[in-house]
Amino acid sequence: MMPAPDHTSTSSSSTTEASTPLPPGMVLGPDGKPCRTCTDWKSWSKIGKSKAKKDSKDSTSTPGPGAGAGAGAAAAAIGATAAIATGSSSFDYEKECPADKEILGRATWTFLHTMAAYYPDKPSPMEQSTMKSLLTSFSQFYPCGHCAEHLREEMKVDPPKVESRRDLSWWMCGMHNKVNEMLGKDKFDCNKVDERWRDGPSDGRCD
Ligand SMILES: Cc1cc2nc3c(=O)[nH]c(=O)nc-3n(C[C@H](O)[C@H](O)[C@H](O)COP(=O)(O)OP(=O)(O)OC[C@H]3O[C@@H](n4cnc5c(N)ncnc54)[C@H](O)[C@@H]3O)c2cc1C
Repeated sequence: MMPAPDHTSTSSSSTTEASTPLPPGMVLGPDGKPCRTCTDWKSWSKIGKSKAKKDSKDSTSTPGPGAGAGAGAAAAAIGATAAIATGSSSFDYEKECPADKEILGRATWTFLHTMAAYYPDKPSPMEQSTMKSLLTSFSQFYPCGHCAEHLREEMKVDPPKVESRRDLSWWMCGMHNKVNEMLGKDKFDCNKVDERWRDGPSDGRCD
């Protein structure tokens, strides 16, 4: 198997190669460039704003993606993107832009919980083994490096339970709750995992 990408090199306030200060919360990838999928849009957009300010001071033209190398160039590219984005009146970040950490997280949990909700009640040995491989591979390649690393650590302590649909759904719920806890969010009641991800609420509002 290929080695896992490591996007976890830096967090909190960092400095790019071009000495452009990065806002707290911005995370750099192993290539030294800001990692969008490890950063929330709020921190991400700040880099765009500071770049826009710098650009107007320098009175230089905005460089496009790929101009120069390293994090400084990446910051410049992000600045251009954010400037275009904020200039649009009907701009919808989630529909038009690459995923940040939050969007990626919500979409991924939707996929993982839904996959667990439709996993067989009595999976064959082959299905169990495939699901284990899928989750192991997933934890190697999830494109938020520090999230993936955390997941890999948790999976060492509490390996995936793939013996039945219920086992997998509850295991996934537990994994998600560990992340919720780490982020200071409320724990989800795992008794409601089928209602949330398969059956919908009993009042029929989702039908
Ligand atoms: C594998 C993985 C690891 C992550 N690790 C990190 C990390 O280390 N640091 C970080 O900042 N972000 C991490 N994230 C992102 C984070 O978990 C959230 O997805 C993101 O912060 C957006 O949160 P949210 O409040 O919109 O809802 P989410 O947490 O994305 O939840 C989406 C929906 O799932 C339901 N839900 C919530 N909890 C559960 C549960 N326990 N079981 C079943 N359903 C539930 C709720 O209806 C909720 O609205 C990770 C995401 C994934 C997929």
